[in-house]
Amino acid sequence: MISLGIDLGGTQIKYGLVEDGKILDCGICDTRLEEGYQAVVHRMADCAKSFLRGAEAEFVGIASPGLVDTYQGVVRYSNNFGWHNVPLAKDLSDCLELPARIANDAQCAALGEALYGAGKGIPRMAMLTIGTGVGGGFVRDGQLETDGYGSMAYIFGHCVIAHDGKLCNCGQRGCLETYASATAIARRGEQVFGGSKNVRQIFELARAGDKVAQGVLREFLEYLTVGVVNVANILRPQVIVIGGGVSASGDLILSAVNQGLENGVYGYEYAPVRAVCARLGNQAGIVGAANLTDRQK
Ligand SMILES: [Zn+2]
Repeated sequence: MISLGIDLGGTQIKYGLVEDGKILDCGICDTRLEEGYQAVVHRMADCAKSFLRGAEAEFVGIASPGLVDTYQGVVRYSNNFGWHNVPLAKDLSDCLELPARIANDAQCAALGEALYGAGKGIPRMAMLTIGTGVGGGFVRDGQLETDGYGSMAYIFGHCVIAHDGKLCNCGQRGCLETYASATAIARRGEQVFGGSKNVRQIFELARAGDKVAQGVLREFLEYLTVGVVNVANILRPQVIVIGGGVSASGDLILSAVNQGLENGVYGYEYAPVRAVCARLGNQAGIVGAANLTDRQK
């Protein structure tokens, strides 16, 4: 079965024709969010049409940011996009004359990793995606676990890990993503280095022995571990996959997180939980979206 996976990001839309977890062909176009919802839908459709060029896709799967009602095919709310209740699956389906399925982007990435990446063959797998924010997903027996509203659970990034902590853009204080996202690492780096540094630069400095960068890394890992231990205690997956750009630095993060799991998870010796890095890189969202099952009601 061939399907079209679309990963809708804030700056770029990535799409790929996927068969058995392999991307046969892929492309990219700009999102241009500032032009508004309808324009974004039409650009997604135009890109997909010219890309498909007669290739037979069974359906289109969309990995979308925000809270997604997979039953209705509606993006209920995306803070970054400023979208409320937009029927993205139906609108894209109408444009492409193809059935459309949709889920939150981190959940799509989790599905991709569970089926074809770091969680392959694992019955219960959770994933945290470390990016602008911290996304989450949970896959059981190769299926995305949904909830009563259609994929609005597993919001790991907004679990509070510090009472009265830093203000999050969701309005709450102390959310995991204010401490353990790529944005948070870069912000901390800027404070201690006095100039802008991205995560990759900070991690490279840490690897080279820079004490200040190692401090930033250690702090990130301490907060990430608190979040990961909470996820483990609530869901008790066998494996927690760490995704996003930091997943390329498993040598710097995995031993600390796994040590934290061993020390912090209740009854670890009876039911261990292992942290691993994502394997599909930035293709996980496309692969997962192309493997969504039909959940619409
Ligand atoms: Zn929050």
